[in-house]
Amino acid sequence: MNPWLLTYDGFDPAQEGLREALTTLGNGYFATRGAAPESRADEVHYPGTYVAGCYDRLVSQVAGEPVENEDLVNAPNWLPLTFRADGGDWFTLGRAEILAYRHTLDMRRGVLTRLLRIRDSHGRITRMEQHRLVSMDDPHLAALTMTIVAENWSGLLEIRSALDGRVTNSGVARYRGLAGRHLVPIRGHAAHGVIELLTRTATSRLEIALAARTTLAGGRCRGGAEEGWVCDDRAVEVKAGEEVTVEKVVALYTSRDRAISESEAAARTAVVRADSFPALLQRHVRAWDRLWQRGHVRAEDAGVQQILNMYVFHLLQTVSPHVAELDAGLPARGLHGEAYRGHVFWDDLFAFPFLAPRFPEITRALLRYRWRRLTEARWAARAAGHTGAMFPWQSGSDGREATPRLHFNPRSGRWLPDRSHLQRHVGLAIAFNVWQHYRATGDTGFLAGFGGELLLEVARFFASIATCEQEGRYAIRGVMGPDEYHDGYPCRAEPGLDNNAYTNVMTAWLMRRVLDMIVLIGAEGVSGREIDLFTRMARRMRVDFHEGVISQFEGYQALEELDWAAYRRRYTDIRRLDRILEAEGDTPNRYKASKQADVLMLFHLLGEEGLGEILTGLGYGWNAAMAVRTVDYYLGRTCHGSTLSAVVHAGVLARLRPGASHPFLVEALNNDVRDLQAGTTAEGIHLGAMAGVTGLFEARPRP
Ligand code: BGC
Repeated sequence: MNPWLLTYDGFDPAQEGLREALTTLGNGYFATRGAAPESRADEVHYPGTYVAGCYDRLVSQVAGEPVENEDLVNAPNWLPLTFRADGGDWFTLGRAEILAYRHTLDMRRGVLTRLLRIRDSHGRITRMEQHRLVSMDDPHLAALTMTIVAENWSGLLEIRSALDGRVTNSGVARYRGLAGRHLVPIRGHAAHGVIELLTRTATSRLEIALAARTTLAGGRCRGGAEEGWVCDDRAVEVKAGEEVTVEKVVALYTSRDRAISESEAAARTAVVRADSFPALLQRHVRAWDRLWQRGHVRAEDAGVQQILNMYVFHLLQTVSPHVAELDAGLPARGLHGEAYRGHVFWDDLFAFPFLAPRFPEITRALLRYRWRRLTEARWAARAAGHTGAMFPWQSGSDGREATPRLHFNPRSGRWLPDRSHLQRHVGLAIAFNVWQHYRATGDTGFLAGFGGELLLEVARFFASIATCEQEGRYAIRGVMGPDEYHDGYPCRAEPGLDNNAYTNVMTAWLMRRVLDMIVLIGAEGVSGREIDLFTRMARRMRVDFHEGVISQFEGYQALEELDWAAYRRRYTDIRRLDRILEAEGDTPNRYKASKQADVLMLFHLLGEEGLGEILTGLGYGWNAAMAVRTVDYYLGRTCHGSTLSAVVHAGVLARLRPGASHPFLVEALNNDVRDLQAGTTAEGIHLGAMAGVTGLFEARPRP
């Protein structure tokens, strides 16, 4: 087995969405799903292209109410390239008999290859070979070649190369009832072998410009355009056995780009000046070589190595060093699909351990994305009656809270209030990332500058939401932990939980780091009162315990036990227990049942020693036996409804319960390759989990 290749033999419509996601090509600036170039969005295919940070907001009617959502925009499709023989039908997969089909992703070189042999209804056999790249060298360029051999026929071969701006955001079935028409066509144009398409996003008014140069030796050329679509048709006489190669080089610019006059001219100029495919390929492969020198994670087993290569590949395609020039965060589902609308959550927390030591320019850029939204986060804190910076659980263009107000349960067909924005711990993840970046780089200038500002403002926020209660302990009320299945108490009207252990312990961790930072760079701008408060919180955050284990939140022990065996008997997959219970008229809030690692996140981030140090520093009794008991306790009460959960469990159990870790390692590795999370990979990869898996194969110091 070649661990650099991901090969699919045969065409399987049911698997095509997954293949498209896993064979996406990107360069950090934009990415395009591995869809067939001749395909259009339908039940089988979804040729999506996403530009980092390119969002748009639309209002939809949901359950009779106007609801505004922000989406990472599906940009115009640059792929369309197909052919027809002697005036027959344009080739699409459904119309021809497939004699041979192979789809291969070469992860070392970042090249997608498709080999096809087909027979049409007239018995004409045609062989086709396509190679595609999205340049890691020049982030605005992509290219596609197609070689056609008319095996047993002679006649007119016509090629159609197009740019399609009529696409919508419709890649996720659950969202299809919502508005998804983000692109407004402006103009299309075909001249001198170059086609151009200019569109604008509906409300964010970003221009997206594409230009394509199609080359076919000896071909006659005819351009055409309709609203939102432009094509370049070529025709050439072929003889049986002859090979014809067509090359399409594409440039993509948006009005957000730097060093341009305007996007349309920039795309045109770039495509006219671009080299031909072989030269583009050479530089692209060299750029990937450089990334692999810095990013390769080794495994002994070839199968595992293949998966690790794939996960690093997708991580670097989503956030490559090119993000250093952009204003973009790490979207939870990559630039690979439309799940979670391309929003940025806390998942970068799982990517920093891999990225910070190897690609500090990337982690710095991701933190700059947060820092640019500090004003918004400060405003959000003020609006909620607090100080410091309250970062949104879901972040998009401008850093305001982008979490949808309602979410859909496909099992019950109901729209339900979404309270997940109460996951204030996202700020703690940002602070943790600041510290990870600092530890990897040793850059005190970063701490004295925007890194320290982030750390301090997040600390101020947590200091302002904490209240000093009995025994001088600091409590945080009305929040959610990483376990999204608990968003409130069964008998309390207002949402949120009190004293989520993860939030409180990480707050104590944060206060310690802020104090460390003050020792390192001084206390300028921090008052003595603040330092006192941070010091007290570092020593006196409240953590609840029951039965000798950390309580996930205050009152957890009073919840009912779920009859896990009964649910496992009744449902083949109980990962989405929230949806199952809601459809039964029940709620996970009643039960000791978690979606994903919550208390165990503390072991994941801090390690046993680090956690012990904080708990004992807070004045709680803690020992190795309690650590194991806590891990066992939640292991039996978690259904792993997030891909992040298996990653965390695999790592934590490997240290504390080695015998129990293997199935989680296998699950973490297979999450996306085998699409374990209920078929959701087709809607976008799970980037946090992919990145987290790399950490299971290398020892790393903890910040
Ligand atoms: C998880 C979150 C995660 C989000 C995006 C959710 O299912 O519960 O922890 O941030 O997916 O990946």
